[in-house]
Amino acid sequence: MKKTTKFLTMALTAVLAVCTLTACGGDSAKGNVITFGTNPEFPPFEYVTSNGVLGEFDGIDMAIAQRIGADNGMEVKMESMEFDSLLVALQNGQIDAVIAGMTATDERKETVDFSTPYYTATQVMIVKEDSDIATAADMADKKICVIQGYTGEVCVQDMGYTYEAFKKGTEAVMELVNGKCDVVVLDSATAQKYVGDNEGLKIVEDASAFESEEYAIAVQKGNTELLDKINASIEKMLADGTINDLAVKYTEEATAE
Ligand code: GLN
Repeated sequence: MKKTTKFLTMALTAVLAVCTLTACGGDSAKGNVITFGTNPEFPPFEYVTSNGVLGEFDGIDMAIAQRIGADNGMEVKMESMEFDSLLVALQNGQIDAVIAGMTATDERKETVDFSTPYYTATQVMIVKEDSDIATAADMADKKICVIQGYTGEVCVQDMGYTYEAFKKGTEAVMELVNGKCDVVVLDSATAQKYVGDNEGLKIVEDASAFESEEYAIAVQKGNTELLDKINASIEKMLADGTINDLAVKYTEEATAE
């Protein structure tokens, strides 16, 4: 009898350990599942790969989401959708949270609540190596490409420039590579990845024109129960260097490819 109890305890512990490690599926109670939404077109934060940290998804954000689940004993589900649809899906309750390299802007704060920020970025300009663009003001008479719904689009709009908006970062960068546009305005780490992937491009920064941006996880307004869990996990990962290590790891992977 005693032996059986001990065996059961050991077996149960083993099952729990596996579940925590892999954030495994099964018939978990709904309350024990956290469904994130992302747009996996934003390396090194989220992209699709054959063997990712969360199924087909990999990147800094995906590793962070996986740890948030593990820290709280919750199963993590990841839903892929257009960047533009993420906040709508969150408000509809289709997803519980958004993790998508999303900048916590004042405008977005009107409709959703954001976690403690976990990454600081800025908009940069990707141009051809021989471009004469040296500042944001130099974009005035150039053909500008942005990605629809990104903060880069808002920046260019606020500067009063005309631009063309693309659905994906890769599409905008292809326009630049093919000489159909002169500059792509995009978040720094993602821009770095595209410059590493394509010959003949460089990054131009203009700190006086582009403010720094903070990435955070969005939840429905007033969902403090989930936000508290997410924040505790993020704060732990910021304090023990996990997020920094992930940023270094995925940035190196991104440039090594
Ligand atoms: N940081 C930018 C924004 O919030 C881009 C994010 C993204 O494409 N995933 O708009």
